[in-house]
Amino acid sequence: MLYSSTRSATGPYVSSAEAIKQGLAPDGGLYMPAEIPTLTEEELFDLSKMPYPERAARILGKFLSDYSEEELLSDCREAYGEERFPGGAAPLSDIDGTTVAVELWHGPTCAFKDMALQIMPRLLSRALRKTGETKTALILVATSGDTGKAALEGYRDVPQTKIQVFYPVDGVSRVQKLQMATQTGDNVNVTAIRGNFDDAQTGVKKIFSDPAIREKLAKSGVILSSANSINWGRLAPQIAYYVSAYCDLVTTSRIEMGETVDVTVPTGNFGNIFAAYLAKKMGVPLGRLICASNRNDVLTEFLACGVYDRNRSFHTTMSPSMDILISSNLERLLFVKFGARRCKALMEQLASVGKYALTHEELSSIRADFVGYSADEDKTAEAIRFAWDAGYLADPHTAVGYAAIRADRNARGRAKKILLASTASPYKFAANVYRSLTGKDPANDLSALRELSALTSTPIPVPLQGIGERTVRFTGSVAPEEMPARVLEFAGV
Ligand SMILES: *Cc1c(COP(=O)(O)O)cnc(C)c1O
Repeated sequence: MLYSSTRSATGPYVSSAEAIKQGLAPDGGLYMPAEIPTLTEEELFDLSKMPYPERAARILGKFLSDYSEEELLSDCREAYGEERFPGGAAPLSDIDGTTVAVELWHGPTCAFKDMALQIMPRLLSRALRKTGETKTALILVATSGDTGKAALEGYRDVPQTKIQVFYPVDGVSRVQKLQMATQTGDNVNVTAIRGNFDDAQTGVKKIFSDPAIREKLAKSGVILSSANSINWGRLAPQIAYYVSAYCDLVTTSRIEMGETVDVTVPTGNFGNIFAAYLAKKMGVPLGRLICASNRNDVLTEFLACGVYDRNRSFHTTMSPSMDILISSNLERLLFVKFGARRCKALMEQLASVGKYALTHEELSSIRADFVGYSADEDKTAEAIRFAWDAGYLADPHTAVGYAAIRADRNARGRAKKILLASTASPYKFAANVYRSLTGKDPANDLSALRELSALTSTPIPVPLQGIGERTVRFTGSVAPEEMPARVLEFAGV
């Protein structure tokens, strides 16, 4: 299987290892496979009998043809085994009579980013060897919370890699800060920036595009790499859990093999829902893909009227991982639907005027698969209460998805099973969940975990237990201008 850029119809084509190593294509586009492999009903039956790591290895094998079966199986067993995902990687849980959650947050950092970031470092480490790369890959991450911790946990002690995470010193929650500052591992660094998330992100982008820094690093045997969701190595692993969830719906007799199931995904960068689309394209009987947004409703508007317009105000919400104005992975959908030439033209419009419009036919083609809903903060809090009334404790991101399902049911009045991607443990956002359920503030961010546990009689997940008592390894903060020096220092230049 070869990969090419979403912005070029004529190649160059690269191997999957090369695509994972490079992250972004040289022309600024995203890597996509030359074709979408298929899955037959018979294969789905076979997969149904396997545990999650084997299912994931099978699906990845269809896309990553330059990785051997043994390599993928061994990596998936390590990434998704009992040690990192006690009780299974993507279990199903009923929310109400028709809504079934696929819970993607049973990994080390309690958010769905683990589903990709536990396996991607292993894929990159192998990619370096497969492409004859002898230098160490230094992963630079700017984070507003969830991605940083998941990447640290994924890259910790992975051979031939180092990881350095920058976060805004006052821009992440107390729990998120402690999760990062107490990170273990010999190849990790965490640096707080005296600035906001944009300062951190701009700083990282500057370092990536600075030839002098790159040259200094190269002389010391270091290349730069990134861990964000435009990398194919993060997207491919996400396809597996939609296939897996479908298999489990069948094996638990919630549906019959072949029955079509709609899927709802709380969406920010369009990565997770695009993985569901690829599972559908492969042949998994998925129906409509419901794209759920918070108050940042750029995708809702796009799916309703075909205009993508990033010129709008940015809202901070209680589902921060979906506070996004540019959904980068939407580019991959435009490529699949309309081809590289049109995709490139639309992306150029987005870069120059911050907006583009689809034709009527193009919008119909997208609406054949997708529908969008958005929930403001009140609707999100209400959905947390409705889910809890039914016996399910949902985090704010998952609740945005549940709100979309409720709105869709009101509009269509349906009673078929529907799958909801449950993307974070409620304890990761304990204060806001507690507030939504009680209308009261918890004493503070950390005590909110205990208060939520007492209120709902549900356990605090092991990775978040005693987080206030762990040894803090990374303290202090630097000005954004100091970021390059910190990178060189950590790289050992
Ligand atoms: C990142 C994230 C999302 C959004 O996923 P995308 O792939 O960016 O659409 C939703 N929920 C949680 C908890 C996340 O961390």
